[in-house]
Amino acid sequence: MVLYYIFSFLFGLGVGSFLNVVILRGARGESFVKGRSRCESCGKTLQWFELIPLASFFIQKARCRSCGAKLSWQYPLVEFATGLLFALIAIYYSPSGVEGIPLWLSPRLAFELMFAFVIPSASIVILVSDIRWKIIPNGAVVTLLVVSLIRESTRLSLVDIGYDVGAALGLAFFFFALWFLSRGAWMGFGDVKLVLATSFLLGFPASIPAVLFSFWIGAAFGVILLALRVVNLKTQIPFGPFILAGSAAAYFYSETALWYIGMSMG
Ligand SMILES: [Zn+2]
Repeated sequence: MVLYYIFSFLFGLGVGSFLNVVILRGARGESFVKGRSRCESCGKTLQWFELIPLASFFIQKARCRSCGAKLSWQYPLVEFATGLLFALIAIYYSPSGVEGIPLWLSPRLAFELMFAFVIPSASIVILVSDIRWKIIPNGAVVTLLVVSLIRESTRLSLVDIGYDVGAALGLAFFFFALWFLSRGAWMGFGDVKLVLATSFLLGFPASIPAVLFSFWIGAAFGVILLALRVVNLKTQIPFGPFILAGSAAAYFYSETALWYIGMSMG
């Protein structure tokens, strides 16, 4: 049992290392399958022992072995975060399966587990890219859309599908209007695409509180950053992280959220 969790953590570290490559190459508009990993500063091809998640960064004291350039903290942070998330997911989907059905006997559970790994991976790519460069990579958004399409195909009723699609399009249009009216000052176009994907993924009705939460979390963060003078009123704060945080909150607390909204609407 413990071995299974450790394996999931190590697997997450490896995936995190891959996500770092996707994030950096995506920011430069390069294909992420292109060639071996290189130092960002001197361009030297990295050896296998320079690519060990977490370990290489700390053994090399956050510097390139060849040129001594400082390595970004993005490397260990993304690796550790992915490892931790994967371990938590593994705990949630215990090896004995959910509701007593062993994981390997249920294709549906195996499917769910695959989504459970893909969704946070795409989210990490979006989170880091948006914070560092205000970019929401299309590849990550398309990944989320494909996952939602596969999920949607398991829905039995056309009415349910209609509600999910309708709500996602409506919410995306709302963000589109904010982007259009503010000429990109309040929202980026990436946020429009991201909201479409997360709303579709959550489905109706959870997609509604997700957007509300993202505005509340964004507002709270904005006030704190203003108070700490990290930002001023003219600073553009990327909104993607708040969309992701709001979606996660709505996913885990959707019933509480819907109850609260029902109450406030009378
Ligand atoms: Zn170097």
